[in-house]
Amino acid sequence: MGWRSQSCTDACVAVFDYDAIVLGAGAAGLMCAAVAGQRGRRVLLLDHADQVGKKILISGGGRCNFTNIYTRPETYISANPHFAKSALARYAPADFIALVERHGIAYHEKTLGQLFCDGSAKQVVAMLLDECARGGVDVRCGQPVRQVTHADGRFAVRFGDLDFAAPNLVIATGGPSIPKMGASGFAYDLARQFGLKVVEPRPALVPLTLGGDDVLFRELSGVATPVEARAGKAAFREAALFTHKGLSGPAILQVSSYWRHGEPVTIDFLPDAAPGWLLDAKRARPRATLASALALPDRLAQTLADRLALPGELGAQTDRKLADAEARLKRWTFRPNGTEGFAKAEVTAGGISTANLSSQTMMAKSVPGLYAVGEAVDVTGWLGGYNFQWAWASGHAAGQAL
Ligand SMILES: Cc1cc2nc3c(=O)[nH]c(=O)nc-3n(C[C@H](O)[C@H](O)[C@H](O)COP(=O)(O)OP(=O)(O)OC[C@H]3O[C@@H](n4cnc5c(N)ncnc54)[C@H](O)[C@@H]3O)c2cc1C
Repeated sequence: MGWRSQSCTDACVAVFDYDAIVLGAGAAGLMCAAVAGQRGRRVLLLDHADQVGKKILISGGGRCNFTNIYTRPETYISANPHFAKSALARYAPADFIALVERHGIAYHEKTLGQLFCDGSAKQVVAMLLDECARGGVDVRCGQPVRQVTHADGRFAVRFGDLDFAAPNLVIATGGPSIPKMGASGFAYDLARQFGLKVVEPRPALVPLTLGGDDVLFRELSGVATPVEARAGKAAFREAALFTHKGLSGPAILQVSSYWRHGEPVTIDFLPDAAPGWLLDAKRARPRATLASALALPDRLAQTLADRLALPGELGAQTDRKLADAEARLKRWTFRPNGTEGFAKAEVTAGGISTANLSSQTMMAKSVPGLYAVGEAVDVTGWLGGYNFQWAWASGHAAGQAL
């Protein structure tokens, strides 16, 4: 770091010089700063929060689902589905796993390729800070970023009462999900300030709310069952959970990222049942009721049976009615009236348009020296460690280019 004095008018202001300033010390910013620092760049990492990596600390129930071994471009949503390919190929889950292992952090696969720390997410933050220290990164927290300007090929940042300058600036301030943790739309404001487009941000990996006829299902709050949930062309086989506001659980969070207002979400309540299972049940157990024939939690089975309005024994129903009931259970249609919003969204879909960025370096095509990484960019991963993998990969790509 060097310093010089700005042109003296009323008072001389110290300006500290770096090769790169990274705004946002979350997953992507920490990775980017560490990589650039270890390449010999003088890096300043700034965050308005009182500590770095706050979302890492709360992630995965405090154990940080830090990657997914099945990461592939199709596990991300973006206006340009090809954009993430380059960065993901150059920094794969194996690279992050190698880093975790070098730091002696024990981990395990929980399910579906999701890797979690055995101990605590704190280990991941400590690891990233250690990597930053190895790169001589200057990490500063707990002050607001008051102003960012750009002139003569230099970015100037006022952080609290101090002024910093560098020829490179990285936007790594994430998206607005969970505002009570200090998350904000700052990245978008900054991007717009520099003429970059922003794809309309929307809450993703978020519970859906039910209204109208579907409010009855809210009485099932707490009931969970494995389903196949669909929104548009996306389908996920995981658990769904009824809540006092509507629908949640991994299957619902996954489809919420694809769901658009006004569209239905369909649920296959018995994804493993063979076609014709209800007629078979009628033949095998004609005295059974529909509710008792459903291999589902009791309260859910009763609610679905009531909705299907087939009272009495299966043996008393026509085959036609039972075939119709089976078809409805396979494609039960909910029409969510909204989501629980950014307050409950695990991530933000949309963000800084990838059309404005180089997929190799994450640099803005129209503003040399300006980069954007992580969740701030219009790349959103599925639930299960994919979002951190994008943060690591995009942060690494920019860190290599700075
Ligand atoms: C509850 C929860 C659990 C999650 N669990 C997982 C998980 O297990 N696995 C997974 O892959 N993903 C998980 N995610 C998603 C993951 O946390 C994010 O995708 C990831 O943190 C994005 O990294 P980022 O660096 O882009 O942004 P962030 O990690 O959000 O970092 C942004 C940083 O910028 C700072 N900042 C914001 N505004 C400003 C400003 N105006 N000035 C200065 N600094 C600012 C913030 O303080 C923050 O430190 C979870 C998210 C939540 C909310």
